[in-house]
Amino acid sequence: MSNLNAVTLNGDATALADDAVTQLRAEFDGDVITPEHRDYDDARRVWNGEIDRRPALILRCRHAGDAATAVRFAARHELLTAVRGGGHNVGGLAVCDGGLVIDLSPMKGIELDAGQRRIRVDAGVTWAELDAATQKVGLAVPGGVVSTTGVAGLTLGGGIGWLRRAFGLSCDNVRALDVVTADGELRTLDARHEPELFSAIRGGGGNFGVVTRFEFDCHPVGPDVMFVAAFYPSEQGVDVLKRYRAFTETAPDAVSSFAICGTIPDEPDFPTELHGRDYVLIAACYAGEAETGARTLQPLRELGTPMHDMSDVMPFVDVQQLLDGDYPEGRHYYWKSLYMTALSDDAIEQVLSLAGERPSSLTTVDIWHLGGAMARANSGDTAFEHRAPEYLLGIESNWDDPRESDTNIDWTRQTCERMGAYAEDRGYLNFEPIDAEAIDKTYPQGYRRLRALKAQWDSKNLFRMNHNIKPG
Ligand SMILES: Cc1cc2nc3c(=O)[nH]c(=O)nc-3n(C[C@H](O)[C@H](O)[C@H](O)COP(=O)(O)OP(=O)(O)OC[C@H]3O[C@@H](n4cnc5c(N)ncnc54)[C@H](O)[C@@H]3O)c2cc1C
Repeated sequence: MSNLNAVTLNGDATALADDAVTQLRAEFDGDVITPEHRDYDDARRVWNGEIDRRPALILRCRHAGDAATAVRFAARHELLTAVRGGGHNVGGLAVCDGGLVIDLSPMKGIELDAGQRRIRVDAGVTWAELDAATQKVGLAVPGGVVSTTGVAGLTLGGGIGWLRRAFGLSCDNVRALDVVTADGELRTLDARHEPELFSAIRGGGGNFGVVTRFEFDCHPVGPDVMFVAAFYPSEQGVDVLKRYRAFTETAPDAVSSFAICGTIPDEPDFPTELHGRDYVLIAACYAGEAETGARTLQPLRELGTPMHDMSDVMPFVDVQQLLDGDYPEGRHYYWKSLYMTALSDDAIEQVLSLAGERPSSLTTVDIWHLGGAMARANSGDTAFEHRAPEYLLGIESNWDDPRESDTNIDWTRQTCERMGAYAEDRGYLNFEPIDAEAIDKTYPQGYRRLRALKAQWDSKNLFRMNHNIKPG
């Protein structure tokens, strides 16, 4: 066997000696995957088909001890290192060219303590897997709105989902976690053990170590909840969005909702005559008793004249999976986002006008209503700072033909720029591509503190395949 060519943290080429890799194989219980391995192409593939990177080595961890071995190996050889949870990051941050991937996706342990309303999940668990466990006993952890995403990456960056206004962000609900820091030590953190690091990790997006396990608070939800999905023709968009805005101004915290501007796909779920029609969809989940939910959400079904209404009482697990089909693995994606303190009439008109220019009918422009419990959480408890904005604008470009990548990426950037006049100059990192500008703006209060913690815990910036906080 010959040495393995790899890339260091500085971007230099290095050759990993054969005996170093042999020793690693002896210490590591999971799969060690190099480019000639039959599973290499599967193992390096991530959700976004736009990303095509070729790491030198992929370490598929079986347990936390494997993660510690992997971190020590990466640190000893100063290798460019990526960490993979669910592999759904839109910028492909879970994989790197020429470096090492620490892949936690095989780690699927779940322990539910229904009495204490706590769940402990390993870092490879997806939201679908977590929901399946909690919903058996009528509990839920605030996650995202698509169940195939990883619990790990979503939680580390914040976590905005159907329960955000009722119970806060995913990161707000983490009570403890196990993490391998850059020195290769496995530590358990909570509010009493390394509280500063514990706070930085929740919202700090993977900058401070490899989290191997999360412990979350659970909340009673469902199993059936009221869900609204009312599709209005885009021609009614201005009135519908103005009335939606009025609804959000007094909506109770049990309601988490958003408006989506898109195009009805050619799919059997929709009447044929509606295929290809542009819509403004109002989607909302009520985290509480279903009958009360139906009454509370009824105005959202009467914001205009819907051309299609899929609203119903349904199992919460189904709500969590309703949008999964819109985000298949291997499609091409490029997303950006902007926080908005208010939704002015002009902003509404601009959103609709830009949505009308989408180069791909799979693309959507979304307005998420924030606030509620996520706004009330004490921002000092986590690194996540964007508690005050009322809305989040998501510009999600989705397309199938790789030849259309430039057009779609350019459109996303231009749309984001044009909406800049109505928004804050920062977005939600979990929706940002890898070229997210101005990381300091993401942490306007805490950036210096986070840089100091980064210097303390990861002075060589081993964990840099993320929205990177440089050691300061
Ligand atoms: C279809 C889709 C829908 C989405 N919907 C929502 C939504 O509703 N709400 C929301 O908030 N976000 C949403 N997101 C964004 C999502 O939060 C991010 O893409 C998130 O990064 C996905 O986590 P992951 O574990 O799958 O990602 P990965 O690609 O595996 O990782 C993402 C980042 O986290 C780091 N990371 C992952 N696991 C660990 C770990 N165990 N320890 C340390 N670092 C780690 C990685 O290094 C990388 O930097 C959505 C994304 C997709 C693709």
